[in-house]
Amino acid sequence: MKEIPETRYDVLIAGGGMIGTSLALALSQLDLRIAVVEAVAREASLQPSFDDRSTALSRSTQRMFEALGLWPKVAAASTPIRRIHVSDKGRFGFSRIDAEEQGVEALGYVVFNRVLGGVLQKAVLEHESIDVICPARIVGVTCSDAEAVAVVEGAERTEVRTPLLVAADGANSSVRDMLGISAIQSRYGQTAIIGNLLTEIPIGNTAYERFTGDGPLAFLPVNDGRAAFIRTAADEDVERILALDDAGFLHELQELFGNRLGQLSNLGERASYPLTLSRTMRLTATRSVLVGNAAHGLHPVAAQGFNLGMRDVAALCDCIADAAREELGNKVMLDRYAAWRKSDQSKLVRFTDSLVGLFGSTRPPVRLLRNLGMLAFDLVPGVREEFARHTMGLAGRLPRLSRGVPLR
Ligand SMILES: Cc1cc2nc3c(=O)[nH]c(=O)nc-3n(C[C@H](O)[C@H](O)[C@H](O)COP(=O)(O)OP(=O)(O)OC[C@H]3O[C@@H](n4cnc5c(N)ncnc54)[C@H](O)[C@@H]3O)c2cc1C
Repeated sequence: MKEIPETRYDVLIAGGGMIGTSLALALSQLDLRIAVVEAVAREASLQPSFDDRSTALSRSTQRMFEALGLWPKVAAASTPIRRIHVSDKGRFGFSRIDAEEQGVEALGYVVFNRVLGGVLQKAVLEHESIDVICPARIVGVTCSDAEAVAVVEGAERTEVRTPLLVAADGANSSVRDMLGISAIQSRYGQTAIIGNLLTEIPIGNTAYERFTGDGPLAFLPVNDGRAAFIRTAADEDVERILALDDAGFLHELQELFGNRLGQLSNLGERASYPLTLSRTMRLTATRSVLVGNAAHGLHPVAAQGFNLGMRDVAALCDCIADAAREELGNKVMLDRYAAWRKSDQSKLVRFTDSLVGLFGSTRPPVRLLRNLGMLAFDLVPGVREEFARHTMGLAGRLPRLSRGVPLR
């Protein structure tokens, strides 16, 4: 590891995953010295953020990458979603959201995390105002009204001072613990199994979300005509499912998804992620703030976790850009961030949580409600538009970057 170049930064970011690197790049538009402390190198096969998953990027995230000048590179590696097809196993009807109907070119874009990671990390390393300290961890934090002091441990152990410490170190954030902010975490009793495959009928630019008795199943279009899938299964069934050979796994997937895309084949590697809902009691502590999964962990049913985290990034950047230099990380600035983010975060937590509850149940009254829900979705004017606005990340008051407007 390189020595830690400086012992004081304007902003110190714990965690250089999808959110931490995006934040560093966004802040590099301002005249600030920034450091990112990341525990695991990108090339490492176990890098937890830039792994084999694929992520559906919302319109507001797309606009952010546009404002950061990164969109051409991200777009070149991603696949547009022009339609979302929602269905319920064991029921004939389905609902569809169309980009054209919504007056947009695409409802979102799908990109492999590893590829997005390549773009973000290269950009971070090229930026003079950003130092990446990796592999290293923040192992201790002390905060006072004047500053936060973080103990960074890599090849050496150094104290780094900053007026603003940002915890972007994921759902099990140890920096959040060090700040004394407690998180309420509840397991869904479900695990997501991901991978990709080939479909006999080309998936084109349609994303499929199917609610099954086992939990939601999603197929997303990815580059080279393949489809990425996320299969949700009950925890107690996961070991059995992962032990299936490719033919057995594909057979089960076909049973759950049906024949809408013809025969499923050519299965790639599979990986699994236990699913937890995580909320925090507060978003800030003295001289410090939480963003991304450190602040909230969602079920991936609506593909919103990263997109929500990017709106945290955009709002924090607005608060920093609007503050005078001496106000960076002070209570007024932090309170403004927390007040701004509270409603979007809790709405999305409730939205994804209720989708899981509503569509995960096989109880007859809930099935009836669900059928009525699908009907309302199709027939009541405005319902589909409202859902689409949330999916695209365009609901509520949007910060500059989420509108595609650079900070300066
Ligand atoms: C199966 C699945 C599918 C998903 N699909 C979508 C989707 O389609 N769309 C969407 O918007 N979201 C999706 N999500 C959610 C999305 O992946 C997360 O919201 C996103 O990865 C959060 O990024 P993050 O940077 O906050 O946290 P993480 O990705 O967890 O990154 C945290 C980083 O911090 C580092 N770190 C940890 N501790 C320390 C420490 N003490 N010091 C230094 N560094 C540390 C880690 O090494 C890591 O690099 C999905 C999630 C799952 C599980």
